[in-house]
Amino acid sequence: MEATVLTIAGSDPTGGAGIQADLKTLTAIGVYAAAAVTCITVQNSREVKRVVPLAADLVDGQIKAVLEDHHVTHIKIGMVGTAELAGIINTSLTGFTGEIILDPVLLSTTGQELLRSQDIDAIRSKLISTATVVTPNLPELSIIMDTEANDPEQALQAADGLLNEFNNIRSVVVKGGHVVHNKEVSDILLYRAKGSVRLVSSTRPYINTMNTHGTGCTFASAYAAYHSLTGNDEYAFYNSANFVQEALTRSSGRTIVKNPEGHGGLLYNSFKLE
Ligand code: PLP
Repeated sequence: MEATVLTIAGSDPTGGAGIQADLKTLTAIGVYAAAAVTCITVQNSREVKRVVPLAADLVDGQIKAVLEDHHVTHIKIGMVGTAELAGIINTSLTGFTGEIILDPVLLSTTGQELLRSQDIDAIRSKLISTATVVTPNLPELSIIMDTEANDPEQALQAADGLLNEFNNIRSVVVKGGHVVHNKEVSDILLYRAKGSVRLVSSTRPYINTMNTHGTGCTFASAYAAYHSLTGNDEYAFYNSANFVQEALTRSSGRTIVKNPEGHGGLLYNSFKLE
């Protein structure tokens, strides 16, 4: 039976981030993609104008409808919006034994809160506690671990802390795109393999472009897709990093949004698994 990757995330009408970016990414990589919406956002590259969380039973119903009919091997979770929805997602996934890739979305690309700070505990206790893979960027890692994570060394310590605190997590991917050092950015993967913890990193040239909206969603979805195709964390990590780099390269220099200060989304075309 065909494997399905299910994304549980917020809707971004611009198609830059959220469920729209997830579906584009999963489809470009070549896996069957399903989607359960948590929140409707009204936003563009200027601002997030509105966020409306859906009723908990509607989120639960969508997830269960997909799970009862598809062979879901991987679930990618993005923006959940509220502590209540984090709780209902946790309950809906009771008994699910596949991979849960959690992208702990806290802020919009325009810097607005997509989760209230008082709801962060629910992300820890309801979602991080059930995930197999967690993919924070540096600001998200700092908030979740309540520590500084501004450079690779601090990021490594915080990622190690996360892995030690939660036995359920096999892999922590830290997306390093927010910190540019010597015109390069680095992502790291810390994962448990055969009784030890292994560290790999991917360093690549920083691409100076405004079109970065949705890079976090794209990375996490690509990880879910590549992992579903191969079951291999290192493969998923390197290929996701390359996928994001390729999409950033394609989109840089293109005008995606009218707002000259705005962050446009990414262009995804004809990616092939090597
Ligand atoms: N999910 C939704 C619905 C969003 O609107 C955003 C950002 O605006 C994100 C997730 C996170 O986006 P990024 O991948 O740029 O971190």
